[in-house]
Amino acid sequence: MKILVTGGLGYIGSHTVAELYRHGHQAVIIDDLSNSSRQVLPALENLVGTNIPFYQLDILNQDGLARVFEQEFPVDGIIHFAAKKAVNESLQKPLIYFENNITGLLNIVRCVEDFNVNNLVFSSSCTVYGQPERVPVTESTPTTRSVTPYGNSKLIAEMILEEYTRLHKGLGTVMLRYFNPVGAHESATIGELPIGVPANLMPFITQTAAGVRERLKVFGSDYNTRDGTAIRDYIHVVDLADAHVKAIEWLQEHPDEVEFFNVGTGTGQTVLEVIESFERSTGQKLNYEIVGRREGDIEQIWADTTKVEQVLGWKATRTLDEMTSSAWKWECALRAQKS
Ligand code: NAD
Repeated sequence: MKILVTGGLGYIGSHTVAELYRHGHQAVIIDDLSNSSRQVLPALENLVGTNIPFYQLDILNQDGLARVFEQEFPVDGIIHFAAKKAVNESLQKPLIYFENNITGLLNIVRCVEDFNVNNLVFSSSCTVYGQPERVPVTESTPTTRSVTPYGNSKLIAEMILEEYTRLHKGLGTVMLRYFNPVGAHESATIGELPIGVPANLMPFITQTAAGVRERLKVFGSDYNTRDGTAIRDYIHVVDLADAHVKAIEWLQEHPDEVEFFNVGTGTGQTVLEVIESFERSTGQKLNYEIVGRREGDIEQIWADTTKVEQVLGWKATRTLDEMTSSAWKWECALRAQKS
C-alpha cells in the first residue's frame, strides 16, 4: 500500500514510516518541520533502503495539500500524525493548537473526500479519558473534557472523525489512543527530538544522565500508588508504530468502519520504577529529587488492551528495560552527532 503520512518526520511518524516499509508498504511524507528536522529523512531512507517522497508543507495550506494529493493520486490510506503536542504550551497558545489540530484535520478530511481516500488512521491520546474513576481504561470508559486545549483538540478531532466517517460512505477510520510512547529505534538512527526543556519523563531522564540537565524532578510522592509516584502506561515507540501498520491493514479488510483502540502495554509503571529500569538497563546513576505534585498531572492511568489484541491482533512485545535502554542509546547517538 501507498500510505500518506502527515508528520512523518516526527517522533512517532518516523518510526511508523520505518515499520510501514518493513511490512512491504510505501510512504509519502508531509511535514512542515515545525517540530522535526530535515536530517530525519536521510536517516530514515538509510534505514528502509530506498528514497521516500517528501513534501515540506504545512497542512494548514489547503491548496498545497491538494497539489500533493493530485501528484500522488491514488493513495491507499492516510496516517495523520501532524499536530502540535505540547500540553502546557497549548494553555498559552490555544488558537495555534485549535488551528493546527482541528483546521489541519479538516484540511486532511477535505482531501479524503476530494481524492477518494478509503482509510484513515488518527493519532489520538489517552488524555481523552482524563483521570478515570477506574483503571485500567477500556475503550468504553467515558471520555471527558480536558483541562487543556491540546486535550480538547484530540477529543474534538475524534468527534469530527467519528461523525464524518459514519456519514461519508467509502471511508474507514481508526483512532489510536496512545498511552505514553518512549524509547527509540534499535538502530539509534531515529528517535525523539525534544525542542527546549522536555516536558515528558523519558527525554528528561536521558538528558539528565547525559549532563544536559542537572537534576530530574519527580513530581509528587503522595499519590495513592504503590510507591507514591504517578503511574503511566509506557509503550515502546516501535510497538506503537507497528500498531499503525496493523490498523491500516485492518481497514483494508473492514471498509467503512470506525473504531477506537487503546494502544498501551496493559501495565502501569510508577516514575520510580522507570528510573530504576533506566539505571538497571544502562548502568547510569540518575540524579533526581522528589518535589511536590505538578498541576494538571493525573494520578494513574493504564490501558486495558483486550480490544486491540482481539480485533487488530496487535500486542506490545518490548519491555520497560528495552524502552529505557533504547532511549539512552539514542541520546548517546544524538550527543555524538552534536560533538
Ligand atoms: P512530533 O512533534 O514529534 O511529530 C509531529 C510532526 O508533525 C512533527 O514532525 C511536526 O513538524 C509535524 N507538524 C506539526 N504541525 C504540522 C503542520 N501544521 N503541518 C505539517 N506538519 C506538521 O510528535 P509525536 O510525538 O510524533 O506525535 C505525533 C502525534 O501523536 C501527534 O498528533 C500527537 O498529538 C500524538 N500523540 C503523541 C503522544 C506523545 O506522547 N508523543 C501521545 C499521544 C498522542
